[in-house]
Amino acid sequence: MNVHLDCQEDLVRACHDIVRVFYPEAIFAAAPEGADFSVRLEPRIDEGLVVVEGALLPARGGERLAFTASDERYPGEARHNAQKRVAKLAVKALLERYTIREAGPWGILTGIRPTKIVHRMLDQDWPGERLELFLHKSYALSAEKSHLLREVAELQRSFLHTGEEAGKFVSVYIGIPFCPTRCVYCSFPAYGLERYRAWVEPFVAALLEEIQGVGRVLKELGLEVETIYIGGGTPTSLPVDKLGQILQAVDEWLKTPGTWEFTVEAGRPDTINAEVLGLMRGHGVSRLSINPQSMNPQTLKAIGRAHSPGDVVRAMGLARNLGFTNINMDLIIGLPGEGLEEIRQTLEQIRVLAPENITVHTLAIKRASSLKEQRGDYTLAEAGEVSGMLNLTYNEAREAGMRPYYLYRQKQMLGHLENVGFAKPGYECVYNIQMMEERQTILGLGGGSGSKWVNPAGWSLEASYNPKDPRNYFERVEELIGRKVEKLRALSCR
Ligand code: SF4
Repeated sequence: MNVHLDCQEDLVRACHDIVRVFYPEAIFAAAPEGADFSVRLEPRIDEGLVVVEGALLPARGGERLAFTASDERYPGEARHNAQKRVAKLAVKALLERYTIREAGPWGILTGIRPTKIVHRMLDQDWPGERLELFLHKSYALSAEKSHLLREVAELQRSFLHTGEEAGKFVSVYIGIPFCPTRCVYCSFPAYGLERYRAWVEPFVAALLEEIQGVGRVLKELGLEVETIYIGGGTPTSLPVDKLGQILQAVDEWLKTPGTWEFTVEAGRPDTINAEVLGLMRGHGVSRLSINPQSMNPQTLKAIGRAHSPGDVVRAMGLARNLGFTNINMDLIIGLPGEGLEEIRQTLEQIRVLAPENITVHTLAIKRASSLKEQRGDYTLAEAGEVSGMLNLTYNEAREAGMRPYYLYRQKQMLGHLENVGFAKPGYECVYNIQMMEERQTILGLGGGSGSKWVNPAGWSLEASYNPKDPRNYFERVEELIGRKVEKLRALSCR
């Protein structure tokens, strides 16, 4: 679908994502010639209200559609941001009429971190009910999603630092970009161990160097490392001696007296055994992630995971026996061939395993995944069914005594829905909250990891990334350390 947006440049860019809610593969044309339809937007201010007049003109005849959206600016909202928001409301209304489809429960909120908007309101002491009404009216969110956002953001408040405290804390993410096999939906840095085994040794050597180089400066500057998260990839797919060296270096260089949480993603249950678990216990890992995604053997096979539901049960039993008391399980809703019945069966088995956290993902068809390339080979549920499966899972988590504590969205998710982390009270993953809400500096070490440098004055943010490719990483590690050290020193001078 070729779409032409006729309006000022900043509005054009703001409206791309709302067009993609209706046409995920939309191509944006610079001129109306050759486009399937053109949308014209004219913003103005009228008696204090932000008004955008919109018109949709189909290229091959057909009815011209018109819609005028208007709203007030909310306290602290810049005029250009209000114009973008109201322009999106106009485009949404026009496309709903043109396609005879609804945008879905998230309305015009197309960003990855919708809770950030809510935190800005809560910073200004907005009462919760007004906030929900505002999201419903000014972002066209469903009442249900407005309430969910409020619930998540209110739970997070006690974990967020004040501007003054934020400068004293950081969190550390360590990326291990290796996996036993590649899942069909994966777009993460995940190099198959069979093929890339020769890179493991130089990768780990470089990572130890980076942990030491950055850790030395953290100690020198007296910064507290609040949380540590080793993800990937699958960290537990590394040879056990290599994983041991990394955990040892974390103990020595990264942990501080204020380190509150240490998570390792043991995502693939087939990489877990008593030796690996014992090693992690010995190094104070406080939170594990063992990820079934589904407990349906056919699904696991179809998505390229080389483990069985039995491996999940076995890994969970071993972890409990070794004393792990905070375990997360990731589930994906909308996997190929799955519907309500398959989710029900998965949830019944998860209930027995009784994890402290469940992270519920909606399947996203990401550009770098083989699912995207071979989409025609898979049967995927329709938006309505995906929403039903998601609700079933949320109800199950709530019945298990969990509360939603972090939420994010991705592009190309089935039904334009969301990912939500649920946790029993006291078991919320603080790293997930800090990383998502962007009110704490996150140092990304290892392969493909991102660092976020937060300035508490206004919560502005700068991001930098380590290379995804392990070879590129280990060849450039000294330069990467140098840059991080420089930024850390600058951060502590603020
Ligand atoms: S386990 Fe995770 S990182 Fe590894 S291939 Fe699967 S989705 Fe990607």
